[in-house]
Amino acid sequence: MPARAYFDHSATTPLDPRVVEAMQLPLGACHGNPSSLHWAGREAKAALDRARRQVAALLGAQPEEIFFTGSGTEAVNLAMKGVFEANGSGPCHMLIGAIEHQASIATAEYLQRRGAEVDRLPVDGDGLVDPDEVARRIRPQTRLVSVMAANNIVGTLQPIAAIARLAHERGVLFHTDAVQAAGKIPLDMSMAPIDLLSLSGHKIYGPKGVGALYVRAGTPLEPLIHGGGQERNVRSGTENMSGVVGLGAAAEIAAAERADEAAWLTGCRDRLIDAVLERIPNARLLGHRWRRLPGHICLMFDGQEGEAIHLLLALDEEGFAVSSGSACSSSHASEPSYVLLAMGLDAVRARGSLRITLGRFNTEDEIERFIDVLPRVAAKLRPLTLHSEKSIPFERSPL
Ligand code: PLP
Repeated sequence: MPARAYFDHSATTPLDPRVVEAMQLPLGACHGNPSSLHWAGREAKAALDRARRQVAALLGAQPEEIFFTGSGTEAVNLAMKGVFEANGSGPCHMLIGAIEHQASIATAEYLQRRGAEVDRLPVDGDGLVDPDEVARRIRPQTRLVSVMAANNIVGTLQPIAAIARLAHERGVLFHTDAVQAAGKIPLDMSMAPIDLLSLSGHKIYGPKGVGALYVRAGTPLEPLIHGGGQERNVRSGTENMSGVVGLGAAAEIAAAERADEAAWLTGCRDRLIDAVLERIPNARLLGHRWRRLPGHICLMFDGQEGEAIHLLLALDEEGFAVSSGSACSSSHASEPSYVLLAMGLDAVRARGSLRITLGRFNTEDEIERFIDVLPRVAAKLRPLTLHSEKSIPFERSPL
């Protein structure tokens, strides 16, 4: 059995042991319902309030602006559908990035069926949205611009502060899906006019099945879930207390350690990228070289695009957990990725990418071992999979 290394932190992160410890409280002694008036309820309410403060602190927000949800997907749904519903029966135009996560894309498609007009914002060859393009596409009926802070496949960081400012100048709300970015890059709601921001517990070393939506005070938003009025009527249902407390603890750790961790991960990422590009002649980095998440690497192998799954399985045999795209789309692994197509890759090349996402508990030894193993494994696949003698030149998208 080779030593195992987990390099799939964009799919999900392991729980930080400090988070596991924090989660014991609501699983045991602090079992009350935070809506109850007695001592047990008050204790639970205190734990809930603390978690809200911890998440708010990570974002430079006020605790009253944080609403807990059942996932990052639910937070994105609440933001987009909540703005649509709050707009009533009036015309509603929305702009969303072309390479958003399915949580946003499928929600936008649903809203289109409900009568919203949705435009996709193109991206360039690095996956970047151009803020000027946002400005050009805003119309009098535009109610929401939604652009993710960091892409889950290629890791590119979007210029969200510039886009948020542009949207605000035109009186349009701005939402960002920060599920991949939260806890990894600085996100300060007091510095940028972001109205809505979604995040998820299981991408920041917290539990699965819990997320949060930041809603700037005064932002019109209709709830999706009606009931007992929890979360100040925005999201009814008794709170998932161990999840919420775990998310709070994870946010507090991220706020304290983010800067050092990001610097270390960026160094590991760049070491890995440079070594792979040097040792594997047909390897290409996808996404922006520098404007990318710390720890996020997305590679394509010219002429071997269809073999990404085989490469993944061969690396799995060597003990490395990596991804061929996002975990959410693994069932569609043989279809070209809409993210890579939007970035200008052709349908053959958009089929294959290898995502390596490093995280808090990786070691430099694991990274060095990967740098040794990857060229060997990729070379074994090459004779079987080259579909052309020449490698196809890599084109940048003209967008
Ligand atoms: N948005 C992005 C960018 C993601 O990467 C993911 C999950 O991979 C989600 C939203 C969905 O989050 P969750 O898994 O908490 O529903």
